[in-house]
Amino acid sequence: ETIGENLRRTVSQYPEQEALVVSQQHYRATYQELWDQTGRLAKALLALGMAAGERVGLWAPNRSEWVVTQFGSARMGAILVNINPAYRASELQYVLNQSGCRVLLLAAKFRQTDYVAILASVRAECPALEHVIILEEGWDDLLASGSSVSDAALAAREAELQFDDPINIQYTSGTTGFPKGATLSHHNILNNGYFIGETLHYTAADRVCIPVPFYHCFGMVIGNLACASHGSCMVIPSEAFDPKTAMQAVQAERCTSLYGVPTMFIAELEHPEFSQFDFSSLRTGVMAGSPCPEEVMRKVQTLMNMAEVTICYGMTETSPVSAQSYTNDPLAKRVSTVGHVHPHLELKVVNPETGHIVPRGTPGELCTRGYSVMLGYWNNPQATAATIDRARWMHTGDLATIDAEGYLNIVGRIKDVILRGGDNIYPREVEEFLYTHPAVADVQVIGVPSLRYGEEVMAWVKLKDGVSATSDEIMAFCKNRIATNKIPVFWKFVDSFPMTVTGKIQKYLMRELAVEELG
Ligand code: ATP
Ligand code: MG
Repeated sequence: ETIGENLRRTVSQYPEQEALVVSQQHYRATYQELWDQTGRLAKALLALGMAAGERVGLWAPNRSEWVVTQFGSARMGAILVNINPAYRASELQYVLNQSGCRVLLLAAKFRQTDYVAILASVRAECPALEHVIILEEGWDDLLASGSSVSDAALAAREAELQFDDPINIQYTSGTTGFPKGATLSHHNILNNGYFIGETLHYTAADRVCIPVPFYHCFGMVIGNLACASHGSCMVIPSEAFDPKTAMQAVQAERCTSLYGVPTMFIAELEHPEFSQFDFSSLRTGVMAGSPCPEEVMRKVQTLMNMAEVTICYGMTETSPVSAQSYTNDPLAKRVSTVGHVHPHLELKVVNPETGHIVPRGTPGELCTRGYSVMLGYWNNPQATAATIDRARWMHTGDLATIDAEGYLNIVGRIKDVILRGGDNIYPREVEEFLYTHPAVADVQVIGVPSLRYGEEVMAWVKLKDGVSATSDEIMAFCKNRIATNKIPVFWKFVDSFPMTVTGKIQKYLMRELAVEELG
């Protein structure tokens, strides 16, 4: 099934059901209205001469036009290129050219940043880009321009599309190097969204609050596609996350599900007006992106009424979700693991050198196989061949264990493992220990080259405000509490870490800086 066919089915079942609410824009649409709007956008793209497989870029925060473009472009077969709103000139130019966008839809500005001016500064360097539409100014005209295209012409295009055609290019976060464009099909992302909805037991009665960004699969797949494939309502509080606005939307729209990364839930729980909001409609939700502290999970389940909240693990290249906790998993498992293999997927944990499956509980490289594995990296066959093997296994680059009951645990990234004198040292284990030191606010551990051991352990520490501690003191704290070979020998005290625009810490840059400084 294509995304368009799936939406048509939902529309025929629930035409009057509310599909999309965007609180900040005062926008509401039923499934029938969403169908009509996406049809107009699809025709407008046809009127611009867009062939199936040509690329349309979308550079905007969460707005109603984002959702209409997501489904409208899928209905006429153009490949949607999600562009991160945090990108600036150089990243924008890179993705426009790497993907070869012919059309770009963009917001005029977002959070004081003038997108139009940024685009103007690189436009001459983007030869493939022909049409630029500014949402706040040109959206209505764009939709109107589709009226020159007949229903029959759109139907003819829809009939040509195949479920395994590429429909979306999503760039990875760039945590371990340059972002790569994962090319995803209807089949990849529609099924992933559908099975997420199944795990969360979504029906047309569900209303899902999505304060996470659309440019990322968390918003557009785990959010929008899970809803649209189940007739549930997408509730979008605002252009960018704000704890109060999200809680207001949950209360006003009687949401049954709420999404976020752990820090968003923390911001809601800690908000001074938290106790004034009514969460009685909530039942479930998704927390993804990074491990969640137990205390936070407990509060989300009790104070926010989300007893059935789930954790997800995934990556852009796998559409994204590969594992998710069940709505009734015990609390301890929900905070210490990322749950179970997702329906219809295979997971295995292998020794990265030999490729052999390791015993349960032993860390190894996680590999995924099944419908969710991307078609490949856009215009990068070498990177694709280095990631997807001939048996179609996707090598994730993540280190994981699977316990006796089948719960998956993410240990870290292979590139980050420290090889010290023949021992594997897992940075996360050392980091979690160092967090227990009372002066440590945040800490990251990396390996740096050493003549004697191959690599040595280095810690970058951010201290809590107004507290001081020396490396000698922290080393003394480590002594006899963790193995001697895991105690960092190099220390650096910092205020922040090198980060992607999405807030992921770039250890490869930390290593480069450390090598320069240590000589
Ligand atoms: P790049 O591939 O460009 O270096 P990236 O891998 O950070 O960037 P994404 O595809 O956005 O880009 O992120 C996927 C990665 O995020 C996974 O491979 C994994 O390392 C990490 N991750 C995702 N979910 C979880 C989770 N629940 N717990 C721990 N780590 C997670
Ligand atoms: Mg990655």
